[in-house]
Amino acid sequence: MSENPFLSRERFPRFDELTPEAAREALPALIAATEAKVAALEAKCEPTWDGRVAALTDALEPFSRAWHLVGHMLGVRNSDAWRAVEEEFQPAVVRLSLRVAQSRPLYDALLALRDGPAWASLDEGRRRVVESAIRDARDAGVGLDGPARERFLEIATRLSELSTKFSNNTLDATKAFALDLADPAEVAGLPPAVLALCADAWNAAHAGEAVAGGSGEAPGRRATPEAGPWRITLEMSIYSPFQQYAERRDLREKLYRARAARASTGATDNTAILSEILALRREQAALLGFPTYARLALDSRMAKEPGAVYAMIDRIGAAALPRAREELAALRAFAAENGAEGELMHWDLAYWSRRRLEALYGYSSETLRPYLPFPRVLDGLFGLARELFGVAIEPCDGLAPVWHPDVRLFRVRDAEGGAELAHFYLDPYSRPAEKQGGAWMDEICNRAERPDGSVRLPLALLCCNQAPPSGGKPSLMTLGEVDTLFHEFGHALQGMLTRVGIPEAAGIANVEWDAVELASQFLENWHDLPAQLRTLSAHVETGEPIPEDLIAKIQGAKTYNQGLATVRQLRFALADMDLHERVPCAEMPDADAAWAAASARFALLPPLPEERFLNTFTHIFSGGYAAGYYSYMWADILAHDAFAAFEEAGLDDPAARAATGRRYAATILALGGSRAPADVFRDFRGRDPTPDALLRHKGLTA
Ligand SMILES: [Zn+2]
Repeated sequence: MSENPFLSRERFPRFDELTPEAAREALPALIAATEAKVAALEAKCEPTWDGRVAALTDALEPFSRAWHLVGHMLGVRNSDAWRAVEEEFQPAVVRLSLRVAQSRPLYDALLALRDGPAWASLDEGRRRVVESAIRDARDAGVGLDGPARERFLEIATRLSELSTKFSNNTLDATKAFALDLADPAEVAGLPPAVLALCADAWNAAHAGEAVAGGSGEAPGRRATPEAGPWRITLEMSIYSPFQQYAERRDLREKLYRARAARASTGATDNTAILSEILALRREQAALLGFPTYARLALDSRMAKEPGAVYAMIDRIGAAALPRAREELAALRAFAAENGAEGELMHWDLAYWSRRRLEALYGYSSETLRPYLPFPRVLDGLFGLARELFGVAIEPCDGLAPVWHPDVRLFRVRDAEGGAELAHFYLDPYSRPAEKQGGAWMDEICNRAERPDGSVRLPLALLCCNQAPPSGGKPSLMTLGEVDTLFHEFGHALQGMLTRVGIPEAAGIANVEWDAVELASQFLENWHDLPAQLRTLSAHVETGEPIPEDLIAKIQGAKTYNQGLATVRQLRFALADMDLHERVPCAEMPDADAAWAAASARFALLPPLPEERFLNTFTHIFSGGYAAGYYSYMWADILAHDAFAAFEEAGLDDPAARAATGRRYAATILALGGSRAPADVFRDFRGRDPTPDALLRHKGLTA
């Protein structure tokens, strides 16, 4: 009988044998063994790299790998049986990870390592790993004693309850509103795909009633996309296209007002919850010795302190605000010319913005699909990786088992020397019944140089949700799907081309949270360059590349209304930072005052009296972005500035592109978490990052 696949240490997991039963069989012993190893380390732990850091990594590795694989199966082959495994073992896993995170002996050993004789012999990467581990432990309250420690843990528990409550209230308030429409005139303007979503929503909501016959409708009545009825909801998948396409202004207004006031009254009111969250975060920061929560959060980030974030907001805001005002004026004029009556209101912005975009650069994302067959796009992506980073990527399907027949396996080699560098799986297509939505990159293992001199190579995986092949044709992609593939591949490259030998800092491990999207967003810059579009595209029937007039429209649309989009992001980033850095103070006594200040600065239309955006700002109240909303723009600045190095060297000069690409690979991709991101950036660019390239690429320079 072969070994349980969750216990196997083989390089490639036996995905075809990973069953819920096998997980249930393997996990209890793995958890018990890990607890025993942690207890042994707590009892006796040398304050050295090998004795403390590497020993803990080794102790946790077999269990982490198995639990990681369970999480992976939940994401790609979700089923009741897998969910039952997760539910059954989650409490034990949480207990184990809390025990490690809260361990005073392990923390003391880290301090002894930092302050002891072994420190001098550690290289930069190892020192960074120790320093971040000390910070993580400190932020988990390990350094506190007595009542302070008790209070800290009490706050942590309360915060986790409050954030769940905040998110549930937001979901419930979103679900509480729906508009059922039966007259085709009321849905005029909506594209067929949106009508289909609305008919589905109607059917889902009325399924029970039809069977019971109690709705006044004929029993068994089904909505169809063409004839309705249609259910309009506040979910983004319906709300957002409704605002962009629905011709009925009064209905757009109704929807807009309902969405803006969510979670601000009655049973789903988040007002008191968000105030309590902010107060508890302040108290938590104070217990750890920080004057504000923002300072605590930024202590472990590339931005380091709120001043750097405010400076970014000022700089980008100064460029984006005048452009946003021009864009709004152009929108007003366009709407008036095209028969809009009255003043341009909130519920008109998305609608007229879409109409004007169509008039200026009109193409539908569906038009591009036949030009972007998946195999061609993949060839183009791998060709770019070869040219820029000197890596050869070849399929090696069949080398190891996969979790679904559509999953591909690839080998990455050094194109010049031929040495094997990594492998990765690619799971490209959407499978709504069992696969999580969105797209992600994950690492099954990252690079590790072992004491015997051998190297464990990175093994990554990419999951996307693009259209599957159909009608005998390959998967035909939209530009958005291509963008997503490039993004995830950018993350994977950082994982696979790392040169770091310790798994604690190889690839994306130990990279500062606000810098981790640099490598992914960097690669997004490439896919829609005119030259790249020509090599990426080949019409599925004629083999023709995307026509030049369409390529020109794609370029034009890139800067369309970027001023408005940017000030919207700045408003959120500023409010988030003020909530965690300044509230409460004389000018900003509470959350409402912070939102009012951010709105006064960055909202071009005054907010509606009933608007309560903060009450549904789940990013910062339940999603891990507290004092971190800025990081979207922060990483984007780095990504655009890195790309600008290629523009400066000459995008049309193959030798210059290759030389710059090799430098990018040797710094940003190779060094990962072993060096501070500001230093890595400087290694690549020869200077600190500036937002100039982002502003230029978004058309925000004068
Ligand atoms: Zn990403």
